[in-house]
Amino acid sequence: MAEAQLIDGQALATALRSRVADAVAMLTARHGVTPGLAAVLVGDDPASRIYVRNKQRACAAAGIGSFEHELPGDASEAEVLGLIGTLRGDERVDGIIVQLPLPRQIDPRRVIDAVGPDKDVDGFHPLNIGRLWIGEPTVVPCTAEGCMMLIRSVRRDLAGSSAVVVGRSSVVGRPLAALLLDADCTVTLAHSKTRGLPALCRRADLLIAAAGRPLLVKASWIKPGATVIDVGINRVPIGGTVRLVGDVDTAAAMQVAGAITPVPGGVGPMTIACLLRNAVLAACRRRGLPDPEALAALPPVMEPPPPDGCCAR
Ligand code: NAD
Repeated sequence: MAEAQLIDGQALATALRSRVADAVAMLTARHGVTPGLAAVLVGDDPASRIYVRNKQRACAAAGIGSFEHELPGDASEAEVLGLIGTLRGDERVDGIIVQLPLPRQIDPRRVIDAVGPDKDVDGFHPLNIGRLWIGEPTVVPCTAEGCMMLIRSVRRDLAGSSAVVVGRSSVVGRPLAALLLDADCTVTLAHSKTRGLPALCRRADLLIAAAGRPLLVKASWIKPGATVIDVGINRVPIGGTVRLVGDVDTAAAMQVAGAITPVPGGVGPMTIACLLRNAVLAACRRRGLPDPEALAALPPVMEPPPPDGCCAR
């Protein structure tokens, strides 16, 4: 069997970021609007700091204004809620992201509630989650939206497909299950207590691994020809260095799957691109403007590589 098609998340994300930049340029030229994204970082977790810096750079490249607010790790919940209240009232800010995890003394649910549905560009507010599950237009969590774009880049018609999502977090697994259901898939949401996971996965036309367990999904778990999306980002010490690996044993899975995302270079780049898209959509919706056309279009379906021996160049 031919090797799986690698789904190039980096290329898709670059294309999406360029469409976001086009949409920002259109908004500025026609309506005098520059979308703005505020990031709130509490404490000095080095990984969180890197994420926030990457988001800032991505905003700048797309022409989106970015505002960073840092609070000390011992900040009280009232201080964080106070800052969010200020950002909610700031006309330059269309989206507020609060970098998770938050220090122990702060209840993330109260913070997400305080952001409110209109400036919730992460799609974590209960109202937006509810809208997602009843299939109404809403703000979709970035990683889940990115996974759907990656899937649709190789499979346009998903109706009737059997989809298995491994991992039920509210950040990835649950919103992705809602999106797949909306795309008329038959969805199974698996988790750490699921019995017979390998056999369940083997029935999946679409297999999404979002468990945060390095190399959990083996080649023998994959239905031949399936589309496999690897959300996992795991830092694993290998031979004296730390390497990033996903939740799927990619090298082996390539021999069975039809298409698969690499780690890194698959889901990760799409998450930030989708965040930028959400910021621009929030800027439009808050002002009663229609969603920019540049952001509605689906990415083109990638052509699979020719079979071995065919069309030799
Ligand atoms: P989480 O810890 O909140 O949730 C993990 C889920 O996996 C849970 O529902 C748990 O029940 C399930 N699970 C754990 N072990 C399992 C097992 N052995 N079998 C079946 N299910 C199991 O994690 P999360 O925030 O959803 O993130 C999951 C992974 O995705 C992590 O590696 C994270 O770094 C990565 N992630 C990547 C991106 C990205 O942009 N690429 C974004 C978010 C998360």
